[in-house]
Amino acid sequence: MTRVNPRQGLCVPCPARLGVHFTLRIDSLDSPAPLHLPRYLIPLDLRNVPQYRFDAVVVGSGAAGSTAALQAAGSGAAVALLSKASLEDSNTLLAKGGMAAVVGEDDSLASHVQDTLRLGCDLSDPEVVESVVSGGPAAVQALLDMGAELDQDESGGLALSKEGGHSSHRIVHAGIDATGREIQSCLVRQVRTCEGVSSFEQVFAIDLLSTADGTVAGVLCSTERRELVVFQAAQIILATGGAGQIYRETTNPAIATADGVAMAVRAGAVVRDMEFIQFHPTCLYIAGAARVLISEVVRGEGGMLRDRHGRRFMPEFHPAAELAPRDVVSRAVFDSMLATDDTSAYLDLSGLDRDPHVAFPGISSTCEFFGIDIATDPIPVRPGCHYQVGGLKVDRCGRTSIPGLWAVGEVASSGLHGANRMGSNSLLEALVLGAATGQAVGEAVRGNDSRSLPTFTVREAGPRTPPVRVNVDDLIYSLKSLMWRELGVRRTGQGMSEALDKMRFWSRAVQAMPLEDPRAWEFSNMLEVAQLITIGALAREESRGVHHRTDFPNPRPEWLAHSELRPQGHDAAIESVVIERRNLESALSNS
Ligand SMILES: Cc1cc2nc3c(=O)[nH]c(=O)nc-3n(C[C@H](O)[C@H](O)[C@H](O)COP(=O)(O)OP(=O)(O)OC[C@H]3O[C@@H](n4cnc5c(N)ncnc54)[C@H](O)[C@@H]3O)c2cc1C
Repeated sequence: MTRVNPRQGLCVPCPARLGVHFTLRIDSLDSPAPLHLPRYLIPLDLRNVPQYRFDAVVVGSGAAGSTAALQAAGSGAAVALLSKASLEDSNTLLAKGGMAAVVGEDDSLASHVQDTLRLGCDLSDPEVVESVVSGGPAAVQALLDMGAELDQDESGGLALSKEGGHSSHRIVHAGIDATGREIQSCLVRQVRTCEGVSSFEQVFAIDLLSTADGTVAGVLCSTERRELVVFQAAQIILATGGAGQIYRETTNPAIATADGVAMAVRAGAVVRDMEFIQFHPTCLYIAGAARVLISEVVRGEGGMLRDRHGRRFMPEFHPAAELAPRDVVSRAVFDSMLATDDTSAYLDLSGLDRDPHVAFPGISSTCEFFGIDIATDPIPVRPGCHYQVGGLKVDRCGRTSIPGLWAVGEVASSGLHGANRMGSNSLLEALVLGAATGQAVGEAVRGNDSRSLPTFTVREAGPRTPPVRVNVDDLIYSLKSLMWRELGVRRTGQGMSEALDKMRFWSRAVQAMPLEDPRAWEFSNMLEVAQLITIGALAREESRGVHHRTDFPNPRPEWLAHSELRPQGHDAAIESVVIERRNLESALSNS
């Protein structure tokens, strides 16, 4: 069984703004090495692969990637924007509640900053929070300038709603709960008409290509017709979104398979706080139905959570009952399921003042299809993986630890969310930091007049010959179930250690398989990132924010720190990751 080694060596002084002045390195996992990854997913021979050159390549066309691409193009850069699906298909498209921004008269930037810091459980970077929150009003104006139809109140001003954790009405929305759809369509319209952006749909980014000095300067991709191509650029932005598909229960769409984190780690990038995965407490749970998210607004209108015996349980868990923070409600729903030996809890809308069919037409029609009348029948719900809080460690302009590589949006750990993400702050982050990253990349393009072609260091691997046929879909299902069971809303050291052993076993099998199509690449990426989440969660021997361990149920002062995972290896493989516990500096200065 894998064991986390509590030995903590190597104490190096480093500057800090908060907390204890140390960087503590943890010799975290006993042999065998906690991770072994080939540098590239497929055997490589670039001689016959067509190469296209741009000033910048953006991988991912959600809110973060599209915004960054438009901004970089606005600075004169020739930008390629890639999506493995359509340009629209993304987590952004599904965003419901809205985007937080201080635009109300009785609101203030200081209050939004305080709310965000409080929910981040002391791990957010106050300067990043301040700068993202301050960018909110301009981000709303930019949306309006693009023609976004945001909902209005009776006086013609922006209609603002309030969500859990926010102390004011500051959620800007569109189509009541179709905000992501409106934002994504506006951005895609801009992208399609912007001269500086060439977009490529159904193009799967497999791996980042590095030069001899470790700089990233290309992306190896597979087109819809399964042809390999390389997009070269001195500046590459990853905006590939989150990792929700790693879990059996998730609100995330099919594209959310952790590709960006996985490929960046294979290229040597540092990731931070991967253990923090946010669960949404109320996903519709009907066999055969998509795990549609039932938003807080339903509970805000008076929806109550009950167990199979009709007992309302939330008041026992939190004074705010059904409107407690998401992580608290998720754990309560989970505990109620265990206590009553049931597969879900139930949302009861029978006491609402309004007709729930009129108030929530989307939920009403989905449930009706499955024979549930939401005005009278309890709706079965359970938690689902919703948001990847950690990610690639970036500075305030989106620079990762690798020269030439940038990251923004859900794939990145910018310092905004800390140990928990406040609802409606991620669209804000995608737009504000998307613009900041695009601008910094535009400046980098202007400062780089090199016209020479990069030479990639590629160590060719031989073709893989599996001894047996492996069923990738079966492996994916097993991984998702394992993550839901052992790395879900409640975790234990023993369960996670056993899970990591299983993942290592699958990893060895995967490394013998020929990985020939996107599904196999996605599985490999999910398996890699599942291990990073597990390693981070094993190391963090405390409970904080969305990370809850029943064997360490409280926050611990020594973990008022980030966990950083640094890949160790050479140009053919990543041999291991080293975990460091770092105090709360935000930039990459101490990397
Ligand atoms: C159901 C739901 C509701 C939500 N509601 C809200 C809300 O109300 N407010 C809020 O602030 N947040 C909300 N969120 C979270 C928010 O939507 C996301 O965090 C945010 O949209 C992420 O934006 P992004 O640009 O980083 O990634 P995404 O929008 O997910 O875009 C990722 C892009 O990367 C591409 N991609 C991925 N891998 C590859 C690859 N290998 N090669 C090529 N392309 C690739 C995808 O095709 C896609 O274009 C919600 C999320 C969900 C799932």
